[in-house]
Amino acid sequence: MEELYLKGPRALEIREAQPLPVLKENEVKIRLIYGGICGSDLSVYKGKLQYASYPLRPGHEIIGEVIESTDVGFSPGMRVVITPNTFCGECIYCKAGKSNICENKRSIGVNCDGGFAEEIIVNSRYVLHVPDEISKEAAILIEPLSVVVHGIKKVAISPGKKVLVVGCGTEGLLATALADYFGGEVTAVDINVKKLELLKGFKNTNVCHPSELDHASFDVVIEAAGTKKSVESCFTYLKPGGQLLLIGITPEATIPVAQVVRNEQQVMGSIIYEFPVDFQASIDYLADVRFDPTVFISAIMPFQRYEEAYEMALSGDYAKIVLQFKGDAVS
Ligand SMILES: [Zn+2]
Ligand SMILES: [Zn+2]
Repeated sequence: MEELYLKGPRALEIREAQPLPVLKENEVKIRLIYGGICGSDLSVYKGKLQYASYPLRPGHEIIGEVIESTDVGFSPGMRVVITPNTFCGECIYCKAGKSNICENKRSIGVNCDGGFAEEIIVNSRYVLHVPDEISKEAAILIEPLSVVVHGIKKVAISPGKKVLVVGCGTEGLLATALADYFGGEVTAVDINVKKLELLKGFKNTNVCHPSELDHASFDVVIEAAGTKKSVESCFTYLKPGGQLLLIGITPEATIPVAQVVRNEQQVMGSIIYEFPVDFQASIDYLADVRFDPTVFISAIMPFQRYEEAYEMALSGDYAKIVLQFKGDAVS
């Protein structure tokens, strides 16, 4: 059994993994199907994530098939997705249903071993069944989509609402798709023209370079670029009474307090998701053929071609790059 292994920043290799131990109580052994490469995987790879620990096995966007389980809820052959963020279930936040801000949260592939291996063992509390009607290409988007589902619950998007999405990485693209699905009049901007190309002709969305926005204003602005400049620009486009949702992360930015106060604007942060509710909602959206964000998968390649896959992801010119761990490569 092989796995990817990150010895330190920019030192990624493939190696023979340790044989997996015998399953303990409530564990699931999973044969990986797909692993999505995420922006945070790239930050860990580049050594730019402060709380990353090395060496480690990278990867956290995982779907697979159950091989064996000591939890009766999971049987061999069942397709599953995992939440890569562990939670204790005991702290005040967990008890309030906010496992996403658990005091004891750990993120696999960041500060403990991740999932880019042919087979992994996961505690069953972090595993969720994926129904058959969801294609495996849609299923690999469940985890990143859940981030958007969780955030968008905090803002009011309904038919006719003007929505601006700033930044067209995977989260921005998925936010655009979901806001469009909810009937919003969506405009998406990115400074990278190649990213805009990905959205040209997608449903009813408008795409442009931020410099082309002029004096447009929006009911809801979703920040998914995560730079100081981008966050600060969002306030320029917010209508009085508007809502700004921050999904991207940057250490700090300046907020025009007088503008926000005088115009009763709301600024909200949103981190990952609550499991399993937001995953379940993502599955429900993905089961609807009218909502199909699989066009945002730019490439699926065998995990043995990880160098090329990481290079494509690092270029910033593509949408989601997916590693395939089982069966023949699709593209
Ligand atoms: Zn991710
Ligand atoms: Zn907790």
